[in-house]
Amino acid sequence: MTVPARPLAAVLLVLALSACSAQAGPAGTGPATAAPTAMDDGAASEEAGPGPDAITAPAAQDSAEATSPAPEPPATAPHSDPAAADVVVNKQRPLQPATFEPADLRPPDVPATSPGVLLGPDTAAAVERMFAAAREDGVGLVIASGYRSYAEQDVTYRHWLDHYGSSADADVVSARPGYSEHQTGLAFDIAQEDGSCTLVACFAGTAAAQWAAEHAAEYGIILRYPLGYHTVTGFFAEPWHFRYVGTDVALGMREAGQLTLEEYFGLPGASSY
Ligand SMILES: [Zn+2]
Repeated sequence: MTVPARPLAAVLLVLALSACSAQAGPAGTGPATAAPTAMDDGAASEEAGPGPDAITAPAAQDSAEATSPAPEPPATAPHSDPAAADVVVNKQRPLQPATFEPADLRPPDVPATSPGVLLGPDTAAAVERMFAAAREDGVGLVIASGYRSYAEQDVTYRHWLDHYGSSADADVVSARPGYSEHQTGLAFDIAQEDGSCTLVACFAGTAAAQWAAEHAAEYGIILRYPLGYHTVTGFFAEPWHFRYVGTDVALGMREAGQLTLEEYFGLPGASSY
């Protein structure tokens, strides 16, 4: 599977951005906000301590092992196919295989905060429709991040591991490689055209975030890490992180009043690794 070449600068940018956000870096590079800023795929700074209330780990990941001796067994458990729009990736559900690369990645034809943003084809098409509708409503959306490869996530995670010297601390600011929803090509981060609160908590108050939260489902897209559901999703609120799931699931969730994929699909929560 061929992935378009990405310039070194893009890799370094990812490294600098930790998981999703440059603003929330723990090395003092970000704004001194009192409230911890949610980190994409790395969760918020208090994410390190969900321990005692951690939800029981699911056993679903093991179901393929009994039938296949292959080092990387095919994903047969429900919602485990990383190429499917209904895949669920979280801290208890790594991509299978961990180094999965989506097919047919392409840049969506929408404004971006930096070049090189790639998405899976269905996700890219949905993003284009969603952003166009926002524009018609007078809301300027920009895409800030899309697909990230296993290798890019590995570089990022190792950077923070070296920086802190322990996985406990690195896990606070970066997803482990193979556990990032961005690796599916189905997840992306948005920003507001004027740059307000890009990838920081106050983004929730922007017109872009509010428009997207209200209308995303119409395009098969959901807000993946809603406020108050970190014990289910493993991440504190990320009002910029959206995920393509298809209209059946997105509208079904809306109709059912469910805010997380885990709950909608009846899967265990995943507050920690
Ligand atoms: Zn994200």
